[in-house]
Amino acid sequence: MRIDLHTHSTASDGTDTPDDLVRRAAAAGLDVVALTDHDTTAGWPPAVAAVPPGLTLVRGAELSGRWYRSEPSVGLHLLAYLFDPSYDPMVAELARVRRSRDIRAENVVALLNADDIDITLPEVRGYAAGGTVGRPHIARALVGRGLVGSVDEAFAPEWLGSRYRLPKADMDVLTAIRLVNEAGGVSVLAHPRAGSRGHIVPDDLIADLAVAGLWGVEAGHVDHSPEDREHVRLLARDLGLRATGSSDYHGDNKTVRLGAFTTDPAVYEDLVAGATGVAPVHG
Ligand code: AMP
Ligand code: FE
Ligand code: FE
Ligand code: ZN
Repeated sequence: MRIDLHTHSTASDGTDTPDDLVRRAAAAGLDVVALTDHDTTAGWPPAVAAVPPGLTLVRGAELSGRWYRSEPSVGLHLLAYLFDPSYDPMVAELARVRRSRDIRAENVVALLNADDIDITLPEVRGYAAGGTVGRPHIARALVGRGLVGSVDEAFAPEWLGSRYRLPKADMDVLTAIRLVNEAGGVSVLAHPRAGSRGHIVPDDLIADLAVAGLWGVEAGHVDHSPEDREHVRLLARDLGLRATGSSDYHGDNKTVRLGAFTTDPAVYEDLVAGATGVAPVHG
Protein backbone atom coordinates (compact mmCIF):
# COMPACT_ATOMS: atom_id res chain seq x y z
CA MET A 1 0.00 0.00 0.00
CA ARG A 2 1.36 3.43 -0.99
CA ILE A 3 -0.27 6.22 1.00
CA ASP A 4 0.37 9.94 0.43
CA LEU A 5 -1.53 12.13 2.89
CA HIS A 6 -0.63 15.69 1.81
CA THR A 7 -1.25 17.22 -1.65
CA HIS A 8 -2.45 20.52 -3.11
CA SER A 9 -4.64 21.25 -6.14
CA THR A 10 -5.77 24.41 -7.92
CA ALA A 11 -8.28 24.84 -5.06
CA SER A 12 -5.22 26.39 -3.35
CA ASP A 13 -1.61 26.66 -4.54
CA GLY A 14 -1.16 23.45 -6.53
CA THR A 15 -1.26 23.43 -10.33
CA ASP A 16 -3.32 20.25 -11.01
CA THR A 17 -7.09 20.53 -10.87
CA PRO A 18 -8.58 18.28 -8.16
CA ASP A 19 -9.80 15.79 -10.78
CA ASP A 20 -6.41 15.69 -12.52
CA LEU A 21 -4.75 15.26 -9.16
CA VAL A 22 -6.65 12.09 -8.22
CA ARG A 23 -6.02 10.65 -11.69
CA ARG A 24 -2.31 11.41 -11.40
CA ALA A 25 -2.24 9.88 -7.92
CA ALA A 26 -3.58 6.62 -9.35
CA ALA A 27 -1.17 6.79 -12.31
CA ALA A 28 1.70 7.34 -9.86
CA GLY A 29 0.81 4.02 -8.24
CA LEU A 30 -0.71 5.40 -5.04
CA ASP A 31 -3.42 3.42 -3.25
CA VAL A 32 -4.47 6.31 -1.00
CA VAL A 33 -4.14 10.05 -1.55
CA ALA A 34 -5.30 12.89 0.67
CA LEU A 35 -6.26 16.24 -0.85
CA THR A 36 -5.20 18.92 1.64
CA ASP A 37 -5.60 22.37 0.10
CA HIS A 38 -4.79 25.42 2.20
CA ASP A 39 -7.80 26.62 4.22
CA THR A 40 -10.48 25.20 1.92
CA THR A 41 -12.58 22.15 1.13
CA ALA A 42 -13.60 23.52 -2.29
CA GLY A 43 -11.62 20.82 -4.11
CA TRP A 44 -13.46 17.96 -2.43
CA PRO A 45 -16.50 17.57 -4.75
CA PRO A 46 -14.56 17.51 -8.06
CA ALA A 47 -11.95 15.18 -6.54
CA VAL A 48 -14.66 12.81 -5.25
CA ALA A 49 -16.33 12.77 -8.67
CA ALA A 50 -13.07 11.76 -10.37
CA VAL A 51 -11.62 9.10 -8.02
CA PRO A 52 -10.42 6.31 -10.33
CA PRO A 53 -10.97 2.61 -9.54
CA GLY A 54 -8.41 1.29 -7.07
CA LEU A 55 -7.67 4.68 -5.50
CA THR A 56 -8.95 5.85 -2.13
CA LEU A 57 -9.38 9.59 -1.53
CA VAL A 58 -9.01 11.05 1.95
CA ARG A 59 -10.63 14.46 2.13
CA GLY A 60 -8.61 16.97 4.11
CA ALA A 61 -7.29 20.50 4.36
CA GLU A 62 -4.12 22.24 5.55
CA LEU A 63 -5.09 24.89 8.07
CA SER A 64 -2.98 28.04 8.52
CA GLY A 65 -2.40 27.97 12.26
CA ARG A 66 -0.45 29.99 14.75
CA TRP A 67 0.68 29.53 18.34
CA TYR A 68 -0.03 32.86 19.98
CA ARG A 69 1.26 32.01 23.47
CA SER A 70 4.86 32.91 22.78
CA GLU A 71 6.62 36.07 21.68
CA PRO A 72 7.10 36.05 18.76
CA SER A 73 4.14 33.82 17.88
CA VAL A 74 4.86 30.66 15.83
CA GLY A 75 3.19 30.01 12.49
CA LEU A 76 2.44 26.38 11.71
CA HIS A 77 0.39 24.23 9.36
CA LEU A 78 -2.18 21.78 10.65
CA LEU A 79 -3.38 18.96 8.39
CA ALA A 80 -7.03 18.15 9.08
CA TYR A 81 -8.50 14.90 7.80
CA LEU A 82 -11.99 13.48 7.34
CA PHE A 83 -13.79 16.29 9.18
CA ASP A 84 -17.39 17.33 8.52
CA PRO A 85 -17.05 20.20 6.00
CA SER A 86 -20.42 21.66 7.02
CA TYR A 87 -19.52 22.18 10.69
CA ASP A 88 -20.42 25.86 11.03
CA PRO A 89 -17.63 27.08 13.34
CA MET A 90 -15.05 25.46 11.01
CA VAL A 91 -16.72 26.89 7.89
CA ALA A 92 -16.61 30.35 9.49
CA GLU A 93 -12.94 30.10 10.51
CA LEU A 94 -11.88 28.88 7.06
CA ALA A 95 -13.76 31.76 5.42
CA ARG A 96 -12.15 34.23 7.80
CA VAL A 97 -8.63 32.99 7.03
CA ARG A 98 -9.27 33.02 3.26
CA ARG A 99 -10.52 36.61 3.54
CA SER A 100 -7.38 37.53 5.43
CA ARG A 101 -5.33 35.92 2.62
CA ASP A 102 -7.15 38.11 0.06
CA ILE A 103 -6.40 41.23 2.08
CA ARG A 104 -2.76 40.20 2.54
CA ALA A 105 -2.36 39.66 -1.23
CA GLU A 106 -3.78 43.14 -1.80
CA ASN A 107 -1.33 44.61 0.73
CA VAL A 108 1.68 42.74 -0.68
CA VAL A 109 0.81 43.99 -4.17
CA ALA A 110 0.57 47.54 -2.78
CA LEU A 111 3.98 47.13 -1.12
CA LEU A 112 5.49 45.93 -4.41
CA ASN A 113 3.80 48.74 -6.34
CA ALA A 114 5.24 51.30 -3.90
CA ASP A 115 8.68 50.09 -5.06
CA ASP A 116 7.62 50.42 -8.71
CA ILE A 117 7.16 46.68 -9.15
CA ASP A 118 4.05 46.79 -11.25
CA ILE A 119 2.22 43.53 -10.72
CA THR A 120 -1.53 43.81 -10.24
CA LEU A 121 -4.08 42.16 -7.96
CA PRO A 122 -6.14 40.83 -10.91
CA GLU A 123 -2.96 39.13 -12.18
CA VAL A 124 -2.43 37.45 -8.81
CA ARG A 125 -6.11 36.49 -8.60
CA GLY A 126 -5.81 35.08 -12.12
CA TYR A 127 -3.10 32.67 -11.01
CA ALA A 128 -5.24 31.67 -8.01
CA ALA A 129 -8.15 31.02 -10.40
CA GLY A 130 -10.81 31.24 -7.71
CA GLY A 131 -8.92 29.08 -5.22
CA THR A 132 -7.35 30.08 -1.90
CA VAL A 133 -4.92 32.93 -2.67
CA GLY A 134 -1.36 32.32 -1.46
CA ARG A 135 2.14 33.62 -1.87
CA PRO A 136 2.83 31.11 -4.69
CA HIS A 137 0.29 33.02 -6.81
CA ILE A 138 2.09 36.30 -6.15
CA ALA A 139 5.30 34.40 -6.96
CA ARG A 140 3.87 33.31 -10.30
CA ALA A 141 2.88 36.88 -11.11
CA LEU A 142 6.50 37.93 -10.47
CA VAL A 143 7.74 35.07 -12.68
CA GLY A 144 5.19 36.01 -15.34
CA ARG A 145 6.60 39.54 -15.44
CA GLY A 146 10.13 38.18 -15.74
CA LEU A 147 11.13 39.77 -12.42
CA VAL A 148 12.36 36.46 -11.01
CA GLY A 149 13.34 33.23 -12.72
CA SER A 150 11.18 30.80 -10.73
CA VAL A 151 8.56 30.46 -7.99
CA ASP A 152 11.33 29.23 -5.70
CA GLU A 153 13.38 32.36 -6.39
CA ALA A 154 10.36 34.53 -5.55
CA PHE A 155 10.52 33.10 -2.00
CA ALA A 156 14.03 34.48 -1.47
CA PRO A 157 14.42 37.04 1.37
CA GLU A 158 14.58 39.99 -1.03
CA TRP A 159 11.15 39.05 -2.35
CA LEU A 160 8.25 37.22 -0.65
CA GLY A 161 10.47 35.50 1.90
CA SER A 162 11.06 38.66 3.90
CA ARG A 163 11.18 42.04 2.12
CA TYR A 164 7.59 41.76 0.79
CA ARG A 165 6.26 39.38 3.40
CA LEU A 166 3.16 40.35 5.38
CA PRO A 167 1.26 38.37 8.00
CA LYS A 168 -2.23 36.97 7.61
CA ALA A 169 -4.74 36.31 10.40
CA ASP A 170 -4.02 32.64 11.06
CA MET A 171 -6.23 30.39 13.17
CA ASP A 172 -5.22 29.99 16.78
CA VAL A 173 -3.84 26.45 16.56
CA LEU A 174 -5.58 25.41 19.80
CA THR A 175 -8.91 26.51 18.29
CA ALA A 176 -8.03 24.73 15.06
CA ILE A 177 -7.32 21.42 16.82
CA ARG A 178 -10.54 21.73 18.81
CA LEU A 179 -12.64 22.52 15.73
CA VAL A 180 -11.16 19.58 13.78
CA ASN A 181 -11.97 17.26 16.68
CA GLU A 182 -15.49 18.69 17.10
CA ALA A 183 -16.06 18.17 13.36
CA GLY A 184 -15.13 14.49 13.70
CA GLY A 185 -11.72 14.81 12.06
CA VAL A 186 -8.15 14.15 13.10
CA SER A 187 -5.29 16.64 12.98
CA VAL A 188 -1.64 16.17 12.07
CA LEU A 189 1.02 18.85 12.49
CA ALA A 190 2.58 19.39 9.04
CA HIS A 191 6.36 19.57 8.42
CA PRO A 192 7.35 20.84 11.91
CA ARG A 193 11.05 21.04 11.01
CA ALA A 194 10.72 22.68 7.60
CA GLY A 195 12.79 25.65 8.75
CA SER A 196 13.35 27.11 5.29
CA ARG A 197 9.62 27.67 4.84
CA GLY A 198 8.98 29.26 8.20
CA HIS A 199 10.03 28.65 11.75
CA ILE A 200 10.78 25.26 13.19
CA VAL A 201 8.07 24.21 15.62
CA PRO A 202 9.78 23.56 18.96
CA ASP A 203 9.34 20.15 20.58
CA ASP A 204 7.81 21.57 23.78
CA LEU A 205 5.18 23.35 21.69
CA ILE A 206 4.36 20.03 19.96
CA ALA A 207 4.01 18.48 23.43
CA ASP A 208 1.44 21.16 24.31
CA LEU A 209 -0.43 20.47 21.06
CA ALA A 210 -0.49 16.76 21.91
CA VAL A 211 -2.18 17.61 25.22
CA ALA A 212 -4.64 19.82 23.31
CA GLY A 213 -5.81 16.91 21.14
CA LEU A 214 -3.37 16.72 18.24
CA TRP A 215 -3.45 13.25 16.67
CA GLY A 216 -0.22 13.06 14.72
CA VAL A 217 2.83 14.74 13.28
CA GLU A 218 4.37 14.64 9.80
CA ALA A 219 7.84 13.09 9.95
CA GLY A 220 8.45 12.20 6.30
CA HIS A 221 8.59 15.42 4.28
CA VAL A 222 10.83 16.76 1.53
CA ASP A 223 11.92 19.73 3.69
CA HIS A 224 13.02 17.42 6.54
CA SER A 225 16.57 16.07 6.64
CA PRO A 226 16.96 12.35 7.45
CA GLU A 227 17.89 13.47 11.00
CA ASP A 228 14.72 15.60 11.22
CA ARG A 229 12.58 12.63 10.14
CA GLU A 230 14.10 10.39 12.77
CA HIS A 231 13.82 13.10 15.41
CA VAL A 232 10.12 13.65 14.66
CA ARG A 233 9.42 9.90 14.71
CA LEU A 234 11.03 9.55 18.14
CA LEU A 235 9.24 12.64 19.45
CA ALA A 236 5.91 11.27 18.18
CA ARG A 237 6.55 7.98 19.96
CA ASP A 238 7.39 9.79 23.21
CA LEU A 239 4.27 11.98 23.01
CA GLY A 240 1.85 9.21 21.96
CA LEU A 241 1.32 10.80 18.54
CA ARG A 242 1.21 8.99 15.17
CA ALA A 243 3.90 9.79 12.62
CA THR A 244 3.00 10.25 8.96
CA GLY A 245 4.96 10.81 5.74
CA SER A 246 3.72 12.68 2.67
CA SER A 247 4.85 14.47 -0.46
CA ASP A 248 3.20 17.90 -0.01
CA TYR A 249 2.83 17.79 -3.79
CA HIS A 250 2.00 21.16 -5.42
CA GLY A 251 2.15 20.19 -9.12
CA ASP A 252 4.52 22.46 -11.04
CA ASN A 253 4.82 24.94 -8.14
CA LYS A 254 7.29 22.58 -6.43
CA THR A 255 9.63 19.89 -7.67
CA VAL A 256 8.52 17.11 -5.30
CA ARG A 257 6.63 14.20 -6.91
CA LEU A 258 3.50 12.39 -5.70
CA GLY A 259 4.40 9.58 -3.33
CA ALA A 260 7.89 10.97 -2.60
CA PHE A 261 7.15 10.23 1.08
CA THR A 262 4.47 7.87 2.31
CA THR A 263 2.60 6.82 5.44
CA ASP A 264 2.62 3.41 7.11
CA PRO A 265 -0.62 1.48 6.34
CA ALA A 266 -1.20 0.77 10.06
CA VAL A 267 -1.07 4.50 10.82
CA TYR A 268 -3.51 5.14 7.98
CA GLU A 269 -5.91 2.50 9.33
CA ASP A 270 -5.73 4.21 12.72
CA LEU A 271 -6.49 7.57 11.14
CA VAL A 272 -9.60 6.22 9.41
CA ALA A 273 -10.73 4.50 12.61
CA GLY A 274 -10.28 7.73 14.54
CA ALA A 275 -12.40 9.92 12.26
CA THR A 276 -16.19 10.27 12.17
CA GLY A 277 -16.73 13.39 10.03
CA VAL A 278 -16.67 11.98 6.51
CA ALA A 279 -15.45 8.61 5.22
CA PRO A 280 -12.65 7.93 2.73
CA VAL A 281 -13.97 7.64 -0.84
CA HIS A 282 -13.12 4.40 -2.64
CA GLY A 283 -12.95 4.58 -6.42
P1 AMP B 1 1.16 31.22 2.16
O1 AMP B 1 0.47 30.10 2.87
O2 AMP B 1 0.27 31.93 1.20
O3 AMP B 1 1.89 32.15 3.09
O4 AMP B 1 2.29 30.58 1.25
C1 AMP B 1 3.05 29.53 1.74
C2 AMP B 1 3.12 28.47 0.67
O5 AMP B 1 4.16 28.81 -0.23
C3 AMP B 1 3.49 27.11 1.21
O6 AMP B 1 2.35 26.33 1.38
C4 AMP B 1 4.31 26.50 0.12
O7 AMP B 1 3.48 25.75 -0.71
C5 AMP B 1 4.77 27.65 -0.72
N1 AMP B 1 6.23 27.85 -0.64
C6 AMP B 1 6.96 28.25 0.41
N2 AMP B 1 8.27 28.34 0.08
C7 AMP B 1 8.35 27.97 -1.22
C8 AMP B 1 9.42 27.83 -2.13
N3 AMP B 1 10.67 28.12 -1.80
N4 AMP B 1 9.14 27.43 -3.41
C9 AMP B 1 7.87 27.15 -3.75
N5 AMP B 1 6.81 27.26 -2.92
C10 AMP B 1 7.05 27.65 -1.68
FE1 FE C 1 1.29 25.43 -0.32
FE1 FE D 1 2.46 23.47 4.62
ZN1 ZN E 1 1.13 21.68 2.13
